[in-house]
Amino acid sequence: GGGGGGGGIHRSNMITTISEYDFRCIECNEKAAELHRDYSNGILKITICESCQKPVDKYIEYDPVIILIDAILCKTQAFRHILFNTRLNIHWKLCVFSLLCEAYLRWSMLHGSEQSSDPADIIRYTKEWEFYGMFGLAALELSAFCGGVLCFLWVVVCCLQGETMELCLLLRALLLSCYGKVLLIPAVIWEHDYSPLCLGLIKLFVLTSNSQAIRVILNSRRRLSLMAVCVGLLSETCVAQACKKLSWSIQDMLTF
Ligand SMILES: [Zn+2]
Repeated sequence: GGGGGGGGIHRSNMITTISEYDFRCIECNEKAAELHRDYSNGILKITICESCQKPVDKYIEYDPVIILIDAILCKTQAFRHILFNTRLNIHWKLCVFSLLCEAYLRWSMLHGSEQSSDPADIIRYTKEWEFYGMFGLAALELSAFCGGVLCFLWVVVCCLQGETMELCLLLRALLLSCYGKVLLIPAVIWEHDYSPLCLGLIKLFVLTSNSQAIRVILNSRRRLSLMAVCVGLLSETCVAQACKKLSWSIQDMLTF
């Protein structure tokens, strides 16, 4: 037993971690009370996991670039570190940012062929509204994807397996793991250089990260997370098709 009382705040922490909820061992997913112990002489010691005898979170010492590289490689440990042991709270900002990129990309694809030589105001305003429309459509498709994934997982995990599921944590994980969409920026900058193959690869990368994030949060098998991503993709495609049909029928109504 033991544990010196004392007290006193040593120094503000360089590591962005929360002490309110339990941490996770990034190697074995076991819960841990702390990631490091702060001794009064200024020494930080990384906590060793009780169940696997490895450091609970080796990444707290690592450079963010290395953590990012490991996340890009879809390493389970890096995902556990980011999703459980940090308070990275940029998921909504990231979400809006990627939607803006996607909206601009779709909008520029729509006007890819025509050169804007005519600066007529009416046309410009129409195009502006089209951009908002594309943003709304991208947002709707993302909601359909997340909704599909969360509904599927809720049915499987809560109803069939009778386990609890933290929806907020899962949504944050889903949105954060869409970070690959920032790769759309190069496609937006070099407008005419993007190819369907390139966009397809970005999509595949985002879906892989999504699947890995689900697997880490639920500590489930790969099959379940892959199925969830497929259901999400299906729901996204259905919504996109429905919107396309709707806009066609509105155009038909307006022209006749
Ligand atoms: Zn462990």
